[in-house]
Amino acid sequence: MSAPLQRLAILGATGSIGESTLDVVQRHPERYRVTALTANGNTQKMAALCHQFQPRIAVMADEAAARELEAALGASASIEVLAGSRCIAEVAASDAVDTVVAGIVGAAGLASCLAAASAGKRVLIANKEALVVAGDLVIAAARESGATLLPIDSEHNGLFQCLGSAGGAQRSLEGVAALVLTASGGPFRTRPVDTLANVTVDEACAHPTWSMGRKISVDSATMMNKGLEVIEAARLFGISGKRVEVLVHPQSLVHALVRYCDGSLLAQLGLPDMRTPIAHALAWPDRIDAGVAELDLAQLGALEFEAPDPARFPCLDLARQALSAGAACTAALNAANEVAVDAFLANRLAFDRIAGIIEETLGSMNQDSLDDLDSLIAHEQTARRRAAAILEQYHS
Ligand code: NAD
Ligand code: MG
Repeated sequence: MSAPLQRLAILGATGSIGESTLDVVQRHPERYRVTALTANGNTQKMAALCHQFQPRIAVMADEAAARELEAALGASASIEVLAGSRCIAEVAASDAVDTVVAGIVGAAGLASCLAAASAGKRVLIANKEALVVAGDLVIAAARESGATLLPIDSEHNGLFQCLGSAGGAQRSLEGVAALVLTASGGPFRTRPVDTLANVTVDEACAHPTWSMGRKISVDSATMMNKGLEVIEAARLFGISGKRVEVLVHPQSLVHALVRYCDGSLLAQLGLPDMRTPIAHALAWPDRIDAGVAELDLAQLGALEFEAPDPARFPCLDLARQALSAGAACTAALNAANEVAVDAFLANRLAFDRIAGIIEETLGSMNQDSLDDLDSLIAHEQTARRRAAAILEQYHS
């Protein structure tokens, strides 16, 4: 029996995840139809994607970009062009789509991810920040609506695979001793720590094994990416952060492992190519061709592993502390990190001060226990303002 056609909304279509998703999708026109694409401001790229994939709906983050896209598409285009974050969330919840790829970067993706989860969609989650800011709400919304959450962050997708094929992401963890996320160590794994003040944006974005957007590349260089992923794993799989381990593995071929109580360790391996986890989640429980080459272990010879160095990567500990402190603290951690990484990317902050901005911001926030969306968003907005003010002090 052939699989039913899935109508897709790809949020963040112009980004790295969007590109990998569209590459897999165009290999399987009989299974997937692109119904909606959304993007921030890159109208040229969006226009090209609209020509190629002919979605029914295209949404840009603001009016000006939407008008520009309309002009680029021409008067004869039958694509409905919309604008604004509310429209992105409406598209994510629309009856016209079955599957939503949450590929927006940052907390900006939370509203649409939550809308898709609340509307009972099949939601492929790349946007880890949504889970760091309000993961419990996303999980609860999915449980209530019957949505299927499928992780496409490679480590979490690997965990999902090693945990067995039954159920959604919220499966039983009986017999599981620990979840293990691997980390490449990024571009600065062996660089002398006392030279980290001088690294350039290009150096920080030159990831040794993965090709990704700029924000996640910087997060990988500080290892905040792995910190965010520990929180993501805890929320997605309903497990204490103490049972989520991090292992440095420079080749990025083993993506994750599940340690069982009987001594078994199950690992998921593959080339560092996001098309593998995306294809897995698109087709789950089936398997489809992702366009990814075979991993030749004999040719490779050896795999290396080491423990992460806390002095080199202080962000990892900051994230773990935030996870133990609760949802308000993880929302503030993410906000401060977004502000600090933006500043680094704009050459307004030295690389080795990113962790300091986050630590100071967290120290200045109260640690209320917050669990509703409005309070969490207000709290993360406050954290953004605090982080920006601390950044200003660095300059004065
Ligand atoms: P990217 O910067 O390449 O793309 C981001 C996308 O989000 C773009 O399409 C952009 O237009 C859109 N966007 C940005 N700000 C927006 C806003 N305010 N409103 C609406 N749309 C907005 O980023 P990426 O590398 O594709 O990462 C996307 C997400 O996936 C991140 O959360 C990242 O952590 C996660 N992720 C990425 C990878 C990867 O290989 N790239 C791997 C694992 C997880
Ligand atoms: Mg990852």
